[in-house]
Amino acid sequence: KNLVYDFDEGSRGMKDLLGGKGANLSEMKRIGLPVPPGFVITTEACLEYFEKDNQIFAELEEQIIDHLQDLEEKTGKTLGDPKDPLLVSIRSGAVVSMPGMMDTVLNIGLNDETVEGLGKKTDNMRFALDSYRRLLQMFGDVVLSISSHKFDRALEDLKNNYDIEKDTEMSEDMLKDLIEDYKDIIAKNSSQGFPQDPREQIMEGIRAVFDSWNNERAISYRKINNLPDDLGTAVNIQTMVFGNTGENSATGVAFTRNPSTGEDKVYGEFLVNAQGEDVVAGIRTPHDIKELDDIMPDVYEEFMEIVDKIEHHYKDMQDIEFTIEEGEIYLLQTRTGKRTAKASVKIATDLVSEGIIDEEEALLRVEPEQLEQLLHPSFDEKDIDEEKIITTALAASPGAATGKIYFDPQEAKKAKEKGEKVIMVRGETSPEDIEGMNAADGILTSRGGMTSHAAVVARGMGKCCVAGAGELVVEEESRRFWKDDEIYEQGEIISLNGNTGKVYEGEIRTSAAQLSEEFNQILEWADEVRKLGIMANADTPEDSQTALEFGAEGIGLCRTEHMFFDEERISVVREMILAGNRVERKKALEKLLPYQKEDFTNIFKKMKDRKVVIRLLDPPLHEFLPEKDEEIEKVAENLETTPEKVRDTIAELDEVNPMLGHRGCRLGISYPEIYEMQVKAIISAAAEVSSENSYEVRPQIMIPLVGISEEFSKLKELTEETAEEVLDNQNSEVNFEVGTMIEVPRAAFRADKIASNAEDFFSFGTNDLTQMTYGFSRDDAGKFLREYQEKEIIKRDPFTTIDKEGVGEIVKIAIEKGRQADSSLEIGICGEHGGNPPSIKFCHEEEMNYVSCSPFRLPIARIAAARAEV
Ligand code: ADP
Ligand code: MG
Ligand code: MG
Repeated sequence: KNLVYDFDEGSRGMKDLLGGKGANLSEMKRIGLPVPPGFVITTEACLEYFEKDNQIFAELEEQIIDHLQDLEEKTGKTLGDPKDPLLVSIRSGAVVSMPGMMDTVLNIGLNDETVEGLGKKTDNMRFALDSYRRLLQMFGDVVLSISSHKFDRALEDLKNNYDIEKDTEMSEDMLKDLIEDYKDIIAKNSSQGFPQDPREQIMEGIRAVFDSWNNERAISYRKINNLPDDLGTAVNIQTMVFGNTGENSATGVAFTRNPSTGEDKVYGEFLVNAQGEDVVAGIRTPHDIKELDDIMPDVYEEFMEIVDKIEHHYKDMQDIEFTIEEGEIYLLQTRTGKRTAKASVKIATDLVSEGIIDEEEALLRVEPEQLEQLLHPSFDEKDIDEEKIITTALAASPGAATGKIYFDPQEAKKAKEKGEKVIMVRGETSPEDIEGMNAADGILTSRGGMTSHAAVVARGMGKCCVAGAGELVVEEESRRFWKDDEIYEQGEIISLNGNTGKVYEGEIRTSAAQLSEEFNQILEWADEVRKLGIMANADTPEDSQTALEFGAEGIGLCRTEHMFFDEERISVVREMILAGNRVERKKALEKLLPYQKEDFTNIFKKMKDRKVVIRLLDPPLHEFLPEKDEEIEKVAENLETTPEKVRDTIAELDEVNPMLGHRGCRLGISYPEIYEMQVKAIISAAAEVSSENSYEVRPQIMIPLVGISEEFSKLKELTEETAEEVLDNQNSEVNFEVGTMIEVPRAAFRADKIASNAEDFFSFGTNDLTQMTYGFSRDDAGKFLREYQEKEIIKRDPFTTIDKEGVGEIVKIAIEKGRQADSSLEIGICGEHGGNPPSIKFCHEEEMNYVSCSPFRLPIARIAAARAEV
């Protein structure tokens, strides 16, 4: 079995086997780009290694040694050769890129002997020593698990002793001292020690990369990003090229377009005389890629050609790593660049106009979930002007955030859990901070550039980030930062603008998002492609307006109970509920009627001839009841009775389990006059609005919580009779429909029976359906669902993403039975799931007619629906 592949044998299609890095290094090689030679140990080998109790088994070792010999032949260098040693890097490469999460060791092959050889051969002892001290540190950290800080501290001490600032100022002698210090650290902190034998270094390095798949950072990253744990990582062994040989060498990273705005301009940073992760780690402040044109114009030109070639080949924005050794450029990595939502929309539309991809492909390039960022508020320009600016730094990830400052990731996480808004402030971030960053609303760092850890991670998470605020001194230990003599302590509120890089004192109000031209373009393409209808959940004329602006074709769920909570109305509602008899209840309902009619009139006027699905009263009545004494007294007065009597009635209405109690259509059965009033309000409003305008209003009356077909047939009859009476009286016509909300599992199993009552539509209320299918209380499940996810009993929260296997099966049954009885039955979904992309895909596959979701999720739903079709 092939456990190892040369770069010459691979291609981008082999990601599962070679990991992202290995597959793309192979691909770049294949299209003729300058990639240092090397080979890949497969993910299958990694999994077998785990199976064999973390042993590099004989077959694997043999293949590795074979490939090392090939590499020696190719490069004309030999491992451990004291005159001209072959040096390699050992690089992890998972199938899905996990930036900064796994480990890499550079300069493998150096030892006390070969370092001399390298120095002499290159006539550059300083460089050889610099490479060696880096190897000792990386090997110590990655393979021997010695904290990197120990090495960093030794380096800091040395620089202080010699009074130098930059690591490039270290002389040969200083480097020799440092190497001795590093060896001491290794001797003190590891029983194993640093192996002088290059082969041993390689085998230990490979083992460490394999093992890093299971380190805490990697596990936590996979959890946050919903990635499976059983993929394993590939390992790349690659000939070293050196960016640290002197002024003629450099290392850098670049995006083929701006990852923040999407602008079609190469965006990158580099450091002269540096190696590997120096740029990303924010050790020195890197140069803008444009400056390469001044320093090495020929290399710059070649680089630009390479960028063009890569982007045309991959047909997407790429994130690349390169190194320049003595004026020669080498590519060390490419991958699809992470980008902000704003950039993803801009790049997708630009690539279409450049003729590189087509419109359907463009739809696949924008992640609907990520677009949510663009639908979120940003700061009000006016308010911004009045606030005190603390500092201005790099606008590393767009958006706006206001919150209390926290310095410790764990404390940030706790604050978030308490419901606080959190701004995480750090000197710079590292992968250990990931949970704190995940909890934060915004991130502020005092060091690092646009490609620093904080910036990259924040963009991926869609969080606002301001980076490299060099004017600030961040003191994490004492939980504060300061600028000049102004001190900011933990818990104080600041605001970040990720679009401008400005940091403000205090809280700033935010305003609603504006859709860009490009975003609207994508949405137009989505609307052309999608088959699913997109409706909105909207209860008020204001919601309806927002819904229309975000492209709703109608209202899929208008809940009537929210209308009851208005201050004026609630006391009438209470009278209605607490009335001792039907006559009194009808009196109260008469008072409510004009309110309800007005609500519907205003909504219909907004929605015109678009469908509006109105759900009749659903929640248990106790939700409306008074609790305070004065409220009870007021109701008693209105009902001309005593507070005691009212209290008795309240006690009678008390339910042990109200969510499974007297609610939904059960109320309509017990108190038909309530539904009667609502139907009257709907039909008379519809008749009036239709007669006064040139359009025909189309109300769809929905009966909630049906489980038994007789519930539906009785209430449908009631609805139709009431409507007829209204219409006869007003001598007008309204084209209304009556349907069921399917949310009780029994309704799904009896869907044929329910549909045969001349039913017009089904709408799946998947919140209740999920609750009842699992027997999980929606209001209490939060307490244990997280544990269920941690213990991998369930993958996802079924209240967010539809549970296809269980709830989905029930939905399928209902659709099949419903359509069997009535092939023209209109079917939609109106639970939270209607705005969730994977759930939308499911609805598309089950051939529903529409999904309905909250207004702000409409653009996401439109694109998700289109992607389901593409
Ligand atoms: P990560 O996945 O964390 O980016 P990489 O394996 O890409 O880790 O490597 C870390 C750094 O080392 C990168 O900057 C990369 O370009 C550099 N690097 C890796 N291999 C080599 C090599 N053979 N020669 C020079 N630099 C290398
Ligand atoms: Mg790394
Ligand atoms: Mg890399």
